Amino acid sequence: MRIIASAMIFSAAIAASAQQQPIILHNAALVDGTGATARQHVDITMHKGRIESVRPAFKQAPSRVEIVDCTGKTVIPALISAHSHLGILLNNADPSPDAYTTENVTAALNQFERYGVTTIVSLGLNRDLVYELREQQRAGKLEGATILTAGRGIGVPNGAPGLNVAPDQVYRPATPEEARKDVNELASHHADLVKLWLDSGHGKIPAMSPAIYTAIIEEAHKHHLKVAAHVYTLDDARSLVNANVDILAHSVRDQAIDAAFAQSLIQHKVWYIPTLALDEAFYLYAASPEVMQSAFFKQAAGPQLLAKLTATDYAEKTLAAPQTEQAKKDHVIAMKNLKMLSDAGVSIAFGTDSGAVTGRIPGFSEHRELEDLVEAGITPLQAISLATGESGRLIHELNPHLNVGLVKEDYSADLIILSADPLMDIRNTRRIDAVYHHGVLVPNTPPKN
Ligand SMILES: [Zn+2]
Repeated sequence: MRIIASAMIFSAAIAASAQQQPIILHNAALVDGTGATARQHVDITMHKGRIESVRPAFKQAPSRVEIVDCTGKTVIPALISAHSHLGILLNNADPSPDAYTTENVTAALNQFERYGVTTIVSLGLNRDLVYELREQQRAGKLEGATILTAGRGIGVPNGAPGLNVAPDQVYRPATPEEARKDVNELASHHADLVKLWLDSGHGKIPAMSPAIYTAIIEEAHKHHLKVAAHVYTLDDARSLVNANVDILAHSVRDQAIDAAFAQSLIQHKVWYIPTLALDEAFYLYAASPEVMQSAFFKQAAGPQLLAKLTATDYAEKTLAAPQTEQAKKDHVIAMKNLKMLSDAGVSIAFGTDSGAVTGRIPGFSEHRELEDLVEAGITPLQAISLATGESGRLIHELNPHLNVGLVKEDYSADLIILSADPLMDIRNTRRIDAVYHHGVLVPNTPPKN
């Protein structure tokens, strides 16, 4: 009964913010997010925030509808990042414990949305302000990408995450009892999931003990909350899967994954989020400065970050830094593991860790991640389904009121009109003509080149 009531409140809120007259996207090529290849000459009708129908293109235009001619264009579902962060960086550029403000978080949400990422999971390191912002969104009072959140997330005293955030952005329990209390607090805020960090930083920092992560997972499951874990090594990933973790929030990057581990992910129904753009972001702008040429990039980066990345000594210093060599190795292993797991049939969701660290840029990193996925060996069609329909399946598991990621009847009308075919070249996801979120046209889409 309680579930039905809140579902009604939720859809009423969306309807209030959505368009009144139906809109038909006419005669588009449609990549619907299911993994099916493009359908030609399709009409997509959006009404009251939802997709009302998907049909062959009309011969005679109906009356009392708005018609958007999409001849020669491709429509794809809007992107979903199942691993991003809010309020860590100021002006996209510098980490600051003062960054988690309504103004700064809203700016990031708007940037995601403009770049076609209309749903994000803010996977830990949130101030409790996030719950209030999520409520405002549900009431139709706050724009930008739809937020799901893991709240603060659960780390380790003097260990991971080693980021420059305020103390009230992360729990650091010292005992299993404290960890259970933290999970209960997350549950009382109706967090959408729980996040934990398991990483010894190559043996340099204390790792979370098995007693603590086991307590977190058990307690979360009592509250029907899924648990996502930051992970780096295969051994840690194995231990977490055996402890019933639900989501591996990064690639395994210390060694190649074997077939037995892939099978165990399938058996335990564990989601895997590769975040390929993450390691690359440490050196990408130094190693390949040409990626910074486009206005599409520059607008996402913003002036402060652009100044940092184009400073005279930036490239030289970055390329000489010891962590760059490591990040390059990690990126190569991550790509191989992703291809292997994709071929094995593991459930893979899309995420970038955008917003966590300088250089992981809301909106830009997601389009870069698509390119990396294709470079790793999956097809553009697979990359798009992973970032839309597949991630939508994960979002629905986290919040059954949300139907996102497919261009299909009754799904939220979240989609992108592209002026070029992304199946021919994945970089064509950057050629954004329009973004619709809940059936409403998002203003100020980014420049195409
Ligand atoms: Zn993260």
